Amino acid sequence: MNNTTDVIIIGAGVHGASLAFHLARRGVKVTLLEKTFVAAGATGRSSGLVRMHYDVKQDSELAWVSFQYFRNWREMVGGDTSLSAGCGFTRTGFIQLVGQEDVQHLKANVKMHQRLGIPVLLIKADDVKRLAPSFATDDIEYAAYEPESGYAMPSDTANALIHAARDRGTQLVQDCEVTEIIASNGKVRGVQTTQGPFDAPVVVNAAGAWADKMNKMAGLNFPYDTWRHDTMFVMRPKQIINHPTVIDFANEMYFRPEGNLTLVGLEDGNPLGESPDNDTDHARQGFVERGIDRICRRIPAMENGGLHSAHGGYDGITPDQHPMLGAAGPDGFYLDCGFSGTGFKTAPAVGLCMSELILDGKSKTVDLSIYSPMRFAAGKPIVGRHPYSSIWK
Ligand SMILES: Cc1cc2nc3c(=O)[nH]c(=O)nc-3n(C[C@H](O)[C@H](O)[C@H](O)COP(=O)(O)OP(=O)(O)OC[C@H]3O[C@@H](n4cnc5c(N)ncnc54)[C@H](O)[C@@H]3O)c2cc1C
Repeated sequence: MNNTTDVIIIGAGVHGASLAFHLARRGVKVTLLEKTFVAAGATGRSSGLVRMHYDVKQDSELAWVSFQYFRNWREMVGGDTSLSAGCGFTRTGFIQLVGQEDVQHLKANVKMHQRLGIPVLLIKADDVKRLAPSFATDDIEYAAYEPESGYAMPSDTANALIHAARDRGTQLVQDCEVTEIIASNGKVRGVQTTQGPFDAPVVVNAAGAWADKMNKMAGLNFPYDTWRHDTMFVMRPKQIINHPTVIDFANEMYFRPEGNLTLVGLEDGNPLGESPDNDTDHARQGFVERGIDRICRRIPAMENGGLHSAHGGYDGITPDQHPMLGAAGPDGFYLDCGFSGTGFKTAPAVGLCMSELILDGKSKTVDLSIYSPMRFAAGKPIVGRHPYSSIWK
């Protein structure tokens, strides 16, 4: 094992994996330290939605740059070989449904996306019915439709990025928990771990729901919490062959197909502040009943479906539900965390932009400055120009 390296990344979720890949591509020696195994955190539980619809321009830009990786994985990352499953992107089309109170914001956001070059259309209720005949559409006036979007496989994505990074010299050390950030004279020197010390002038905190602990080890006290989110797979009745991927603000829910199953997640009832080491193999009490009630509101024929499985996961969340990206604390310490339940789809671009920030002093693909960890102290939380009323609760 090599204990001296250029960059140490803490956490082998999709963000640690993406940053390792982009740094390794530029010839940087990376050591990726993971306390359990690749994708053991939020990434392994993620619903994997891949869409560009956001009310903040930079979020859409990051998702759009990332989309080009998901769609062209083989050319841009490699993989889809016997050793790597690629990212498993499946195109389903994506529909964003909003309540009446958000229609004007939806229209403005679709225009913003179109200016970025994102393939998206403003559609009406009868178009939704044509795209998804099983949906109840009485409450819908307008929706946004992204024909190219869909979902990908988060664990496969993280593993494929790490596979490509290791091909370029990255060292992955699993079962290796970081227990201390070592700094002296205002500069990061490395980390202490359960497998001994590792030295590097740059340390990146990509520890997801555990990231606050790393920040505190570096002497930082940022507002940061944990967010619990349960999801379930439902077996569709035979008459519903398929449906697009959907975010349904009116019912505070999202869902997507996977084979003959439908994955459902809810925007409400996601508690903050729990230990991310809690049980995630089972969904919390009451979740399945609430989820079934919601999906049957949008797809009434789901009444004839059946429960397949349900489980939970934890992500790191910040007060404005946007990540903290950038340098803070001792020189050489960077944050790449706080993805607030929506960070899978942006991971390829965030890793690219973070590699630019670390190596070139500025991210040029998408300007990351709005995501500065210092924005809360500066009183500048991130808010879209046409913000939706619906957020995680
Ligand atoms: C149930 C669920 C569904 C989601 N659905 C979507 C979705 O559909 N679309 C979307 O875009 N986003 C979604 N998200 C959000 C997305 O999955 C996360 O934002 C993203 O996976 C975060 O990746 P990460 O690498 O930052 O964190 P993680 O995947 O949590 O990785 C952090 C890693 O750090 C490791 N670690 C922690 N502490 C230490 C330490 N001291 N030493 C070494 N290693 C350590 C952990 O073991 C973990 O593997 C969902 C999240 C959840 C929980």
